[in-house]
Amino acid sequence: MQSRMDRGFMRYQEEYEKKAIEVLRSGWYILGKEVESFEEEFAAYVGTKYSVGLASGLDALWLAFKVLGIGKGDEVIVQGNTYIASVMGITINGATPVFVDPDEYYEIDVDSIEKKITERTKAILVVHLYGQAAKMDKVLELCKKYKLRLVEDCAQSHQAYFGDVMTGAFGDIGCFSFYPSKNMGAYGDAGAITTNDPELARLMKIYRNYGSEKRYHNMVVGANSRLDEMQAGLLRVKLTHMKEITEERTALAEYYTKGIDNPAVIKPKVREGGTHVWHQYVLRIPGERDKFREYLDENNVGTLIHYPIPPHLSEAYEYLGLKRGSLPITEKYADEVLSLPMYTGMTREEQDFVIEKINEYRE
Ligand SMILES: *Cc1c(COP(=O)(O)O)cnc(C)c1O
Repeated sequence: MQSRMDRGFMRYQEEYEKKAIEVLRSGWYILGKEVESFEEEFAAYVGTKYSVGLASGLDALWLAFKVLGIGKGDEVIVQGNTYIASVMGITINGATPVFVDPDEYYEIDVDSIEKKITERTKAILVVHLYGQAAKMDKVLELCKKYKLRLVEDCAQSHQAYFGDVMTGAFGDIGCFSFYPSKNMGAYGDAGAITTNDPELARLMKIYRNYGSEKRYHNMVVGANSRLDEMQAGLLRVKLTHMKEITEERTALAEYYTKGIDNPAVIKPKVREGGTHVWHQYVLRIPGERDKFREYLDENNVGTLIHYPIPPHLSEAYEYLGLKRGSLPITEKYADEVLSLPMYTGMTREEQDFVIEKINEYRE
C-alpha cells in the first residue's frame, strides 16, 4: 500500500474539472483574477492581511529572506531536522544557517535557541515539521527580546494552530508550499507567502515578477516565481475543503494512535496548546528502523523516511564544516523515524492492515 494522491482529486473531481475548464477557456493564464482571488482568500484563511502567490515553497523561503534584507554575514537559526529546502532558503541568499536540535515533538527545541544567538543573528526560521505547530509563545518572546525577524516554514502545517493563531500568521512572513503531496496540495508546483506588512507584500510581488512593479521598469534583480492561474484556481477549490481535509487527517492519525501497540515503536505526541494537522504520521523505532521498514515493505506497507540525511550532513552543506555528532538529537531522529501511509481517502480497511502488520512485528 502506497500513498494515493489521486483519491484527494477524485473526491472533488467535478469541482476541479469545472474550474480547470473555466481557466483554460478564460484566455488568461498568468497573474489574473484567479491569483488575485486566491491571495485574498488565502490571507483571510490564515488570518493575515496579505498573501502573495509564488511558484513554490522553496521560492517562498528564498524570497522571504531576500525581502527582509537577510544575506551575507547574517545568521538564521533553524532546526536541524527539516527538509533541506528550509535551509536552502537561507543559504541561497548567502546567509548562514545555525542549527538547533528538535524537542520530543520534532519541533525546534525552544530552550536551545538562546545560546545560539550571536550579534550576527537576524532571524529565526521555525519549521512546523510534520504538521505540528512549534512552541510559538516562547519563540515570539525570544524574537522580541533579541529583536529578531521571524519566518515560518508552513509547507507541512496548513491550518495548524498554536493557541488560536494559525501557523503562518505569527511571523514577519509565513512560507507555504502547495506541492501536490502537501496537505493543501495543488496539481503542479505552487507556493505562497503570508504577511501583515504591506511593504513586504509589495516587495514580494516585485521580486516574483522580474523585479518589476510596472512592466519593463525593473527595480531589482528578481525572479520568475509567479503562481499560475490554473494552480490558483484549483487551490481556491481546495481551500473551500481544507476544514474537512484536516478533520479527516486528524481522524486517521487518532485511529493509528489508538490501534498501534508494539513496544518497539514510539508513537507521535501532540503538544498541549497547539494542534497537529498530520502531514506525516511519524513513528520512531530506535535501533531497528531499517529492519522494521524492510519487514513492512515485505508485507506490502510502503513507508517513507522524513528525512534520512539531515541537511548539515548532506553533501550540499559540507562547506559548513559540521561533523556527525554536532546535532545529536537531529542525527538520532534521522536514524529512527518512519512515516506511515496517510492520505485523503485512506480507508478503514487500509489502516487496519497497516496497524495489524505493525502490531505483529517482533524484534
Ligand atoms: C515541501 C517543503 C518545502 C519546499 O516546498 P516546494 O514547494 O517543494 O519547493 C520547504 N519546506 C518544507 C518543510 C517542506 O516540506
